[in-house]
Amino acid sequence: MIVPVNQPLIAKNSLKYVTECIKSGWVSSQGKFISSFEEGFAKFLQVKFATTTTNGTNALHLALASLNIGSGDEVIVPNLTIISCPLAVLYTGAKPVLVEVEKQTGNIDVSKIESKITKKTKAIMVVHLYGHPAELDPILKIAKKHKIFVIEDAAQAHGATYKGKKVGSIGDVGCFSFYANKIITTGEGGMLTTNNEKIFKKAMLLKDLAHSPKKRFFHHHIGFNFRMTNMQAALGLAQLEQVDKYIEKKRWMADLYNKLLKDQENLELPIEQDFVRSVFWMYAVKLKGKIKRDFLRKKLLDFGIDTRTFFFPLHRQPVLKRKIPLNYEAFPVSDDLAARGFYLPSGLAITKPQIYFVSKTIKKILNGI
Ligand SMILES: *Cc1c(COP(=O)(O)O)cnc(C)c1O
Repeated sequence: MIVPVNQPLIAKNSLKYVTECIKSGWVSSQGKFISSFEEGFAKFLQVKFATTTTNGTNALHLALASLNIGSGDEVIVPNLTIISCPLAVLYTGAKPVLVEVEKQTGNIDVSKIESKITKKTKAIMVVHLYGHPAELDPILKIAKKHKIFVIEDAAQAHGATYKGKKVGSIGDVGCFSFYANKIITTGEGGMLTTNNEKIFKKAMLLKDLAHSPKKRFFHHHIGFNFRMTNMQAALGLAQLEQVDKYIEKKRWMADLYNKLLKDQENLELPIEQDFVRSVFWMYAVKLKGKIKRDFLRKKLLDFGIDTRTFFFPLHRQPVLKRKIPLNYEAFPVSDDLAARGFYLPSGLAITKPQIYFVSKTIKKILNGI
């Protein structure tokens, strides 16, 4: 493979910090890197509270559980996202309710949310897809009107801003992932962020088996073990020191792809709305015209260029079709994006010659030369 779809950068201090854990024996979920990473992340996000989890999927589950969402409740979820979002809802016993996305960014279509709200709706889960923030202000307004929570899934959008504020700090709870292909990585890992002390305290309780604060090994709640290790936090802290540089790299990558591909009329390039600063987690494009997406992807692979399709829409997921009745509801925008969308190599380690090579090869294939 000449150009992999993703290649992470591992920050210089990683080895030093992780070695420190091993040498000191603090390898499990206690140790100084946990609190340094959490405090550093809260500061980066400008949010009052942050607590680590074992991964992004668990951060979503923990957020829902900390909001006391469970059996009999409903949670609004955008239809074009990773399976983690509806799974987290299902883990709590609540029901995911799918909402169509809008065609430019693939984020939740705000105009379609309110008709899906019922007496059972407890929260809207917003995903900032591919690093482009969703339209939070109207979503917050709807949530306020119906007295429901907003959970931001910012797993692809560390450091992206909406009207000057970092996503994950704007709704009631923010959730992040530190999987290897995310903006910063801990190998596997996640974070829950909030400005609400009550939610934070509940999350702290539940993520560590819900030991009674008064009596250890005595339990009133169904807790989880979602504790990150000190070694992962050490890696996370080293990445966090570089996060602004990483975001600049992503934005540089998107600028360069934009410049090289802007004349391709059959390629829809990613946008950046006026009131946001995207982190272009992945350089996501849509193909139109005669040449089919999967044909182009296969040709690119022949040249050693790996790409990924967009997510399958949730309403087409067999596991969800069994769990939630969809009444033959149609999601034409999600279907269209899923059929035409894919992303180009976008890893943090990508080089200028690689971006030139990918762009040149795409042009060659699309123009039949
Ligand atoms: C990666 C991701 C998750 C899940 O994170 P894991 O750490 O892989 O569990 C959740 N939501 C979105 C939008 C993601 O991209």
